Amino acid sequence: MTPGAASAPLLVGDACLGCLYCDQGRRPKQWSDEAIELLEAFADLAAVSIENHRLYTQVLTEKSKLEATMGAVTDALLIYDADGHILLANEPFRQLFDVREWIQDLTVQDLLTLVHEHAHLGLLGGIDAEEDLFDLKPAEIEIGLPPHSLQRRGQAVFDKSGKPLAYVVTFHDVTEEQQAERVRSEILASVSHELRTPLTSIKGFMQIFERRFKRNEALASSQELSLVLQQVEHLNTLVNDLLDAAHWPGSKLYLQRSWVHISRLVAESATRCSRETGRITNIDDQSRGALAFWDREKVQQALYSLLSNAVKYSEDHTTVLVSCVLDEDRVRISVRDQGIGLNAEQAEHIFDAFYRADNSTTRRTNGLGLGLYLCRRIAEAHDGSVHVHSQPGVGSEFILILPGIQRDPLNVLPPAMSEELLSTE
Ligand code: ADP
Repeated sequence: MTPGAASAPLLVGDACLGCLYCDQGRRPKQWSDEAIELLEAFADLAAVSIENHRLYTQVLTEKSKLEATMGAVTDALLIYDADGHILLANEPFRQLFDVREWIQDLTVQDLLTLVHEHAHLGLLGGIDAEEDLFDLKPAEIEIGLPPHSLQRRGQAVFDKSGKPLAYVVTFHDVTEEQQAERVRSEILASVSHELRTPLTSIKGFMQIFERRFKRNEALASSQELSLVLQQVEHLNTLVNDLLDAAHWPGSKLYLQRSWVHISRLVAESATRCSRETGRITNIDDQSRGALAFWDREKVQQALYSLLSNAVKYSEDHTTVLVSCVLDEDRVRISVRDQGIGLNAEQAEHIFDAFYRADNSTTRRTNGLGLGLYLCRRIAEAHDGSVHVHSQPGVGSEFILILPGIQRDPLNVLPPAMSEELLSTE
């Protein structure tokens, strides 16, 4: 140390933060006792200031970390201190409880009053006036418009001596989970019911046949056998639809394309529908021998769904008309019925998986609500679409629009197939 210089340690508790160094310059004098005391007092003050600054920076860093964490939390979260003063409320909390005010200056009691006021104004749906929303007890709460189901959880934070420092309350939105669970149970119930109906009928017939076999009687009439076959066919369709619906979501449908004669495809679907339902389907075919590059089986499946629905959702004495019109390189296949029809809200959902419009006919008839969903997926896989125009009590028209047609079939087919086509025109 140079002559006339002095230093004092910067102490905070047992820790030494550094040292205060003082130099008297070119004309050093002896340090007096008062000067040394002053230097030490100054060093103590400097040490406290440095420590305070360090703590303040640390608090700011911790606060930003906490805010960043709270920003990432999707649950609504509220933190209040032991006196009920609000310390933090994240954005999901403000949105959920519709509080835009500066709530950090409020107490939990003020906040509760505010939320109840909002509920009273109809902003939050019904909230039980007695309910202490920000209590720590786990509970399930309904709030908001439309109502959300929230799972509330609370936790106290204690200091070293075990005294409560703060309380943290979170609200986890379980509305979607509950809805998905409800839909899952409904689908399971409907699938079990749909599968059980044909199975019960087949089992009944088999028991009769067994009894007859034991008595050496004639086993079955052809009418009985065709009834059993019908039920087996129905079961087969249900299982296939379920498998398709399970495999197709999200994935692009795999198509096995080939040249398809549109008139024949429409006629075959109409014939199958008449055979299986006993109702005649009228055909207005203007496709003039055009071919299309489609997945024959899948388009037939889609068209059959539209035709069988037209029969299923209309009275026996009414007409079902399937028409087929070319529109540039697309074909419009329309299936029109004079049945029960659909209202606008129902029409919006009928192409969703497992949707069945709620009416007395639907309740009386079998179905999983998959036919139209699969029909839409098939149309989209062909870069086409399916639409509905409907009026309750008047009837419905379903229109399948599919591209990929070739008006001049003889140009795209090998000679052998062209000859076959000409011979069947
Ligand atoms: P499903 O007929 O097996 O219930 P779909 O997916 O084929 O399933 O049809 C979904 C719903 O759309 C049906 O439950 C029915 O309510 C309604 N729907 C379909 N086609 C018609 C139609 N032609 N007329 C009236 N409602 C229909």
